[in-house]
Amino acid sequence: MTELLFRDDAYRREAEVEVIEAALSRIVLDSTVFYAQGGGQPGDRGELALADGSTIAVVNTVYDADRKTIAHVPAEGARLPGPGERVTARLDWELRYKRMRAHTALHLLSVVLPYPVTGGSVGDGEGRLDFDSGEVGFDKADIQSRLEALVATDAAVTMRWITDEELAANPGLVKTMKVKPPTGSGRVRLVEIAGLDLQPCGGTHVARVGEIGRIALTGIEKKGKLNRRVRIMLD
Ligand SMILES: [Zn+2]
Repeated sequence: MTELLFRDDAYRREAEVEVIEAALSRIVLDSTVFYAQGGGQPGDRGELALADGSTIAVVNTVYDADRKTIAHVPAEGARLPGPGERVTARLDWELRYKRMRAHTALHLLSVVLPYPVTGGSVGDGEGRLDFDSGEVGFDKADIQSRLEALVATDAAVTMRWITDEELAANPGLVKTMKVKPPTGSGRVRLVEIAGLDLQPCGGTHVARVGEIGRIALTGIEKKGKLNRRVRIMLD
């Protein structure tokens, strides 16, 4: 089980950590700043710096089947560290920060469009959400200006934990129909955008929505009779 440093501090770019095991396709550390692919957000990239000054490029980060252990995928041909070795895990911060901004922007999009979310993903500086919006027509310019108004509030983004039982007693908190929040560990992380949004989420977010900056609404597509896919892009 890997200690998830990114969960308490999404702004942490690096950490001194210990190698638990290393194989061609996966390096497991005792703790990590690397977000593992999940919830529509891709796994982090970056590098592991070894004591001898060499570095190992990390090309992706994924969960093991147990969903508790994180595997850092090394670039092909990388020299592998040994168990017990101390390394510095360092994020590709520029990439991660774009994903944090895009991810937080999707929370705001779900505020502007208060329909059940049936899917979504975060890319590098862009993202999309699918809404089960029925026959409602979406007005691109209107959505864009409402998004901009929300970013301009510069509302704070904070997190807190609730128990599985509290979540079960408040089903209205869950906006995502297909992407259910992970329960079973006894607690669920809630992400709150002050005065705007509250939902369970395990992703990485900026601390204030003003950090998102300018967003362009780049597309609205029909996905079946009742679904609309809305795409945004960071400026
Ligand atoms: Zn989130």
